[in-house]
Amino acid sequence: MGILNRMNAPSSPPDWLPPGKTAAVCFSIDDVHPATSQDDYETGGDLGDGALGRVETMLHRHPQLKVTLFVTPDWRPRGLVRRPSLLTRIPIVREHIIWPTLHPEGKMRVDRHAAFVDYLNALPRTEIAMHGLHHLHRGPRFAVEFQEQGQLECAGMLRQGLDIFMNAGLKHSGGFQPPAWNLPQALIQALGDESFRYVSSGRDLLTPVSPDAQTAMSGLRGVSLLFPQELAHNRLLHFSANFQATSTPQRAFDIIDNGGLLSIKAHIFKTGGGHTMADGLDDLYCNYLDLLFTTLRQRYGDTLWWTSMGDISERVHKPC
Ligand SMILES: [Zn+2]
Repeated sequence: MGILNRMNAPSSPPDWLPPGKTAAVCFSIDDVHPATSQDDYETGGDLGDGALGRVETMLHRHPQLKVTLFVTPDWRPRGLVRRPSLLTRIPIVREHIIWPTLHPEGKMRVDRHAAFVDYLNALPRTEIAMHGLHHLHRGPRFAVEFQEQGQLECAGMLRQGLDIFMNAGLKHSGGFQPPAWNLPQALIQALGDESFRYVSSGRDLLTPVSPDAQTAMSGLRGVSLLFPQELAHNRLLHFSANFQATSTPQRAFDIIDNGGLLSIKAHIFKTGGGHTMADGLDDLYCNYLDLLFTTLRQRYGDTLWWTSMGDISERVHKPC
């Protein structure tokens, strides 16, 4: 018995789209938190003078564009690679220790960064969603925050994150992106119980585009590559990421020509903590997206719905 239900059969009219629209595009950015250029890597803390300035420029140049920022409520890893420690080589012990270097407790908690919160809340056409709680787990897969936890523990972590957002006064659109994509069943249930509206987990940049294509790369597998999909037993809508800096424009055209949602993913920083992101939002990726957005506008005009995961969720879940 599958936990996943298709929202719309390939042959049926896509009811997630407003009248007159034949496909959609959304853009989301992960790992946003208040680290500044004085820290190991800047991830939004420099506000308009840093990585978020690039987002601001993009929003200004493309008045139809909407952005979802996945913000971590209390980011802990300072380094993004294993710290030098013999303990990481000892069987069993290695599963129970923290692998990367950490920021001091609470340093990156967003409710301690009022200017960061004010800046995010003031960005136009931008929605905020949650990206884990600490972006950390014990053991070698330290970025995969949700692994073996049960539903109650997941729910507790989600509530902690929501409390931090609420104390900060950060507007929250009810969405979630699990760190390092991994979305166990216990977390799906907890997200539904805690009244989250949408989640993005499955990422697939390789599977050829077709209406029936399913994700088979990172995170949730076997969900629709092109269409929003409801996860059973709760009203949680799943969005796959199907495009990033390394994808060709033709992949974007194929997704749109098949009536799908072009779901573009970026990470807020390119290089930091000893790690480089293939989809880090550097000047090169911004230039590529600038050109792509202009091309999409020229090619598809008003038939393309420039939207966000939150807006689609609202449309799909609106009371009948
Ligand atoms: Zn992340």
